[in-house]
Amino acid sequence: MEILVCVKRVPDNEENEIELNSDGNDIERDDLVYSVNEWDNYAVEEAIQMVDEHGGTVTVVTVGDEESEEVLRREMAMGAEKGILVSDDAFENSDGKGIATILKSVVEKGNYDIIMTGAQADAGAAEVGGMLAAMLDLPYASLVNKIDVAGDKLNVGREVEGGDQEMNEIELPCVLSIQTGINEPRYVGIRGIRKVASVEIPSFSASDLGLASDSVGEAGAQVKKVDYFLPDLGDGAEMLEGSTEEIIDKLIEMLKAKGGLQ
Ligand SMILES: Cc1cc2nc3c(=O)[nH]c(=O)nc-3n(C[C@H](O)[C@H](O)[C@H](O)COP(=O)(O)OP(=O)(O)OC[C@H]3O[C@@H](n4cnc5c(N)ncnc54)[C@H](O)[C@@H]3O)c2cc1C
Repeated sequence: MEILVCVKRVPDNEENEIELNSDGNDIERDDLVYSVNEWDNYAVEEAIQMVDEHGGTVTVVTVGDEESEEVLRREMAMGAEKGILVSDDAFENSDGKGIATILKSVVEKGNYDIIMTGAQADAGAAEVGGMLAAMLDLPYASLVNKIDVAGDKLNVGREVEGGDQEMNEIELPCVLSIQTGINEPRYVGIRGIRKVASVEIPSFSASDLGLASDSVGEAGAQVKKVDYFLPDLGDGAEMLEGSTEEIIDKLIEMLKAKGGLQ
């Protein structure tokens, strides 16, 4: 089973104070600590477990800058065999369709049975997996929280609104967007990362992938971010300030005062 997992390098919410930038059009990205998108970690773990059981190879791919190589190495330390970095100045300011266009061209260079994405990443759009499947004309399942191999098909579980569970049969090759909780991603230690430190990771540019410059990046973006801000507080809303402990104490006091806690 050949599995390609799309992984994105994202700001680590646990390590950063996220603030708006001075232009007010994005978060301030200087000096942030980055890590792999949480959903993608679950996808990689699932792919590794499937290959352990059924044979094959897990390849991880990311679209990003040179520093994005670190997330590929992290996922390779988990057990993915190969990494692919896709990087080009022409990809900057791509919208979701641009990212899916780039990933499509990577998929077409290989021979994959399953292409996995996370259900969503930091921008929260949850758009790349579905767009990629449509562009590749492949069957697609979203919010996947269970995968069983059934001959030349898969039985996939989907998390449905209200906590209900749905099971689907899906033909291969297919695209799956993986939901958190599908497994318990393994711990990656420094030793594991050192082990893959010298593994060569090929890097592809727009021209390597035969991508027209107006199909990706700012030139290809048909969705343009025009503003980014914190919404005004609604009536009755209150932002709790302070350390996590102080916020918890204030919240308990408020819940008690309103009769929610005895
Ligand atoms: C400086 C900057 C400018 C931007 N400008 C725009 C803009 O003008 N218009 C606009 O629409 N968006 C813009 N974006 C947002 C950006 O294009 C989003 O990252 C993209 O739309 C994907 O959305 P998402 O992160 O919500 O991914 P989702 O669709 O939520 O991600 C789902 C899954 O897709 C895969 N995936 C997503 N991104 C990647 C990646 N880079 N490499 C590999 N796999 C990936 C992962 O598996 C992920 O779990 C900008 C981002 C930045 C940093």
